[in-house]
Formats: sequence, C-alpha cells, structure tokens
Amino acid sequence: MEKPDLMEKIISLAKQRGFIYPGSEIYGGLANSWDYGPLGTELKNNIKALWWDMFVRQREDMVGLDAALIMNPMVWEASGHVSNFNDPMVECKKCHERYRADHVKGDSCEKCGGELTNPAQFNMMFRTHLGPVEDERNVVYLRPETAQAIFVDFKNVLQTSRKALPFGVAQIGKAFRNEITPGNFIFRTREFEQMEIEYFIPAPKDDKDWEEPFKAWVKEMHEWIKACGINPGKVHEFDVPKDELAHYSKKTIDFQFDFPFGKDELYGLAYRTDFDLKNHFKEAPYKTESGEAFWPHVIEPSLGVDRTLLAVLASSYHQEEDREVLRLTPKLAPYKVAVFPLMRNKPELVAKAQTIYQDLRQKFMTAWDDRGNIGKRYYSQDQIGTPFCITVDFTTLEDSTVTIRDRDTTRQVRIKVGELEGYVREKLN
Ligand code: ATP
Repeated sequence: MEKPDLMEKIISLAKQRGFIYPGSEIYGGLANSWDYGPLGTELKNNIKALWWDMFVRQREDMVGLDAALIMNPMVWEASGHVSNFNDPMVECKKCHERYRADHVKGDSCEKCGGELTNPAQFNMMFRTHLGPVEDERNVVYLRPETAQAIFVDFKNVLQTSRKALPFGVAQIGKAFRNEITPGNFIFRTREFEQMEIEYFIPAPKDDKDWEEPFKAWVKEMHEWIKACGINPGKVHEFDVPKDELAHYSKKTIDFQFDFPFGKDELYGLAYRTDFDLKNHFKEAPYKTESGEAFWPHVIEPSLGVDRTLLAVLASSYHQEEDREVLRLTPKLAPYKVAVFPLMRNKPELVAKAQTIYQDLRQKFMTAWDDRGNIGKRYYSQDQIGTPFCITVDFTTLEDSTVTIRDRDTTRQVRIKVGELEGYVREKLN
C-alpha cells in the first residue's frame, strides 16, 4: 500500500467508525484539533490503562501522580520554559527544527534545507489569566509538559510514599504547546496527552551509575512497544547528537517510528541529570538513612498518548482482499467480543443471543449486531478490531454451543456457551 494512502485510509476509517473526528466540525473545525469518538476513547483509555498497569501497578519502585494542569508561573520560570522560548523564532516547515530568528543566516533550514516560517515572537506555552482580572500580575500557563509537576511535588511524594532511591513517579495527562506547524493528523497537535515517568536515581559517582539504569529504560521502552502492538520493525533508536541535546539533557534517545507520512519521533528517553530538582530545590531534597543529602538524578521516558495511538493504528491496519482489519492487540481493542443472532427475525434466536450478550457485557466490552448478514457483521467488527465474534444459530438452541470466530485467522470453532468467558479471557491474556 502506498504510504500516503495508508494515512488517508486510517483517517477515513477513524472518522467513519467513531475513533477520531475533526474537532468543532459543525463550526467549520478548528485547525488541527481532533475529538476522540466512542471507540477512540476506549482505545485511548486502554492504552493508558495498559501503560499504568505495566509501569505503576506491576512495579514496586513506581508511584503515580495526577497534578494540577495550571501551576504557579514560578514553576515555568525555574524550569527555563518562560525564558527559553521567548525569542523571535522561525520554524522549518518540513522538519520542525526551530531557530532563533537572529541566529539564522539564510532563508532555508540549516538541517534539511526546508522553507522557514516568518519570524514570530512566541513562547510555546499557552497563556491565560487566573481570576477575573486580565492583567500581567495574574498570567498563568497551561503546562507544556507533565514532567515539571513531578519535580515540584518530589518531596511530598517522597515523604508520603516512603520510597527510597531508585524509584519513579508516573503521570498521565494533557499538555499544551502552541506549535507553529501542527499537522499529520494527531501526530502534532497543540493539545495532546503525555505519559511520563521521572525515574530518580542516586547522584552518580561515575558514568556507569546512570548508564545502567538508562539502558534498562531503553529495554523497557521496547517492551512497551511490543506490549501495545506497535510494529517493532518500524521503530528506530536515534541517539541525539551532543550539539542537538536539550539544555537539560546529557543523553537522549529518540524512539522514531515509520509513520505513514515518514519517520518521526514517537517517544523520547532523556537523562536529565539533577537539572530540574536543582532548579526547584535550594536545599538537597533527598537524604539517605546515613544522613547524606543530595539532589537525585533523573531518567525520563516520555511518551505521547496520541502518537502511540497513531502508531498502533498504523501497525494494526491491514487491507486484505475483501476486508479491512485492525489487528489490535486484544487488550487494546475497544470491543473484545461481538454477539450476533444468526437471523434477526427469529425471536428464539434473538432471545438466546440477548441472554449471552447481557451476560458477556458484564465481563467484557461486548458489541451487539443483528443488522444485515453475518458476512457484513464480520466485516464491520474486523474494521474496528474486535478479536472475537459469536454467532447464535439453531444448533445453539439444541445443545447450547455457539460459533466463535477469530478476527485474525477468520477460523471458527464451536464451543459451549458456558466456556465462552474462559475462552475469551485466556486469549486476552
Ligand atoms: P517534537 O520534536 O516532535 O516536537 P519533542 O522532542 O518536543 O517532540 P518532547 O518534549 O520530548 O517532544 O515530548 C515527549 C513526547 O510527547 C514526544 O515524544 C511525543 O510523543 C509527545 N509530543 C510532544 N509534542 C507533541 C505534540 N505537539 N503533539 C502530540 N504529541 C506530542
């Protein structure tokens, strides 16, 4: 399949089936804003739940946080966000590299030769005012990343969770950046969601002390990529060269993905040293049992929820001769099963199918479909990635067995109604 074609197909399927709609559509839309529909919301929630389970619930060295989105503006002064983005900037329309306008020599991007935008005095942070009076004294910002709250709350978390180094704090939430060149569907938007971890380690005595946990996180990132069904063959590690590192980073690996529009950043993994904690805490915020006080260092795996969802869709979308199928990993699929009566005009079939449906929907996200013929219903469930379809037919009425059809193999087996739950549960795990 031609690559741009794949993007169009994903966008069209997403809209048609209620995964993602253009935002504010009846008012003509709002540039690059997108709304997650009923199935998109399920998929997104499943992605976040899987991540939370894997990195918070299953680990003893991690705790969660859900901080306020609008923080004291002093946070953004201390972090460098207020001053770092306040210059007139130009941005490459092609690779999104940003330059201070006064640093640029020609009119094309030094990195890729792309065309540059006109200079704009911009800070990527969205500003608003706290309270009814709009003056400079009550300017606040919508957070441009979830990370800073984790640093600001570091001592609170430490005292209340009684964790000892190394340990991590995870957070999922919205972030806002007034990007000059958003685009590529949900890849780059001005409002997006992040899943971030700040993993705190003792102040390193030598490079090995941070390189080892950093490597362990590289491995974790790949485990996650596998677990959520992103095609690992399309993921590439990019070791960001020293002169391109963010001011706070000693090492960054970008995890790039072959998106349908080209290779671009999916996730980042950065060794942020003690930069952030030193900005926020004058006194060393961590003390060992023996009384040694210091500023812990931090490794940051930073993941975009929306980019994950796009990579998941791109990895799972397949077009076969007569069907479109989303081969979503069953844990992420919006519906786990669908139940069909063979015919909608046979009340005894419908009644039996309803009993099965009402029972299963207490246990799994379950769809009901009695429209058209069975082939059309399979097609419809394949398109949204439902792993199993159950059909109630006349044999069901005699011996309480149903057919269950597998999305990926399209094979059907006949099993007892009483075995359905166990069958689906086993496949989900
Ligand atoms: P880019 O270079 O693409 O602008 P970045 O390096 O600025 O990204 P980070 O600050 O490292 O991004 O943010 C961490 C993660 O948050 C990214 O890897 C990405 O998954 C996600 N992310 C960042 N900006 C956006 C955006 N505008 N829209 C959607 N997701 C984003």
